[in-house]
Amino acid sequence: MDTETRDLLIRLLDAPGPSGHEGAAAAVWLAAAEEFADKTWADVHGNSFAEINSGSAPTVMLAGHADEIGLMVHHIDDEGFLWVVGVGGWDPQVLVGQRVDVLTSEGVVAGVVGRRAVHMITGDDATKAVKLKELWIDIGAGTGAQAKTKVSIGDVAVIRSDTVNLGDDLLAARSIDNRVGAVVVLESLRRAAKRGCQAHIVAVATVQEEIGYLAGGGARTGAFGVDPQVGIVVDVTHATDHPTIEKTEHGDIRLGRGPVLARGAAINRTVFNGLADAARAESIDVQIQAVPAMTGTDADAVRMSRAGVAVGLVSIPNRYMHSPNQLVSITDVDQTADVIACFLSGLTESIDFTG
Ligand SMILES: [Zn+2]
Repeated sequence: MDTETRDLLIRLLDAPGPSGHEGAAAAVWLAAAEEFADKTWADVHGNSFAEINSGSAPTVMLAGHADEIGLMVHHIDDEGFLWVVGVGGWDPQVLVGQRVDVLTSEGVVAGVVGRRAVHMITGDDATKAVKLKELWIDIGAGTGAQAKTKVSIGDVAVIRSDTVNLGDDLLAARSIDNRVGAVVVLESLRRAAKRGCQAHIVAVATVQEEIGYLAGGGARTGAFGVDPQVGIVVDVTHATDHPTIEKTEHGDIRLGRGPVLARGAAINRTVFNGLADAARAESIDVQIQAVPAMTGTDADAVRMSRAGVAVGLVSIPNRYMHSPNQLVSITDVDQTADVIACFLSGLTESIDFTG
């Protein structure tokens, strides 16, 4: 991966953007897109678009969701503690003891997730998993009134974290799911334009996937607006290459072994085969994942748009999804963009995606 793309990835990973509040991440994405795309724009929900070859056919939508999971303040008590609900799916165990950034209209307010100390966790509580409703955010306010001068109901928060390198090829960050997908769709667009591409391609950094990939996410309205014949969705998938995972139950997906192509009812065969051929042409190994029904990603919304869209789903292996330190292989990210760019540059108007 070149330095410029790596820098963009890290800036995107560190930008806060829980579902419904993707503005900071979207601004980074759009600024990078403006460097090379024919046109960029945003829609009323906050989806960001970048396009090449408007007027050509087929139209391909590349979708990577730019939101991440977060927390939302729903009660401020008289002692000044903030009580929160999840924005997206949390394992509350990973929140205990974390530092958070509360994103307010006046800027970031630092806080920590509080829980009573281990010495005071007794009886049944000592063996039970903690619930989100038993945790609070402490921003150092003495009273509720004081806290309310800084934070309002409905403000959101993310774990405070910086992206770090692990070994030669891995990155750890809180927002791998799915800023890596948002980077890949943009990078695929850039690489396809560079290779020479006849098709009309629209890369989209979608919003609100974590709270409604099927019904309420931005991919649904984004796809309606773009009206593509083909959709390629890029998201993360669970790597199963760590202790305590049964491969017989969850399959065999490994970090650093290449992009993961989904196969199943939701996936168009011509798109799947085209992506597999592109990987072969690029000498990139892919991993295959069986998805018999819904994919649980933006691919479900894009697929069902209007009269139906031929979709492919390319996933990037991710260890420790929805935790403060999700891991991804930089090589996997880079190779995913190469496979998609190769697929896009081979598209012609005459390819039939039916059947
Ligand atoms: Zn997710």
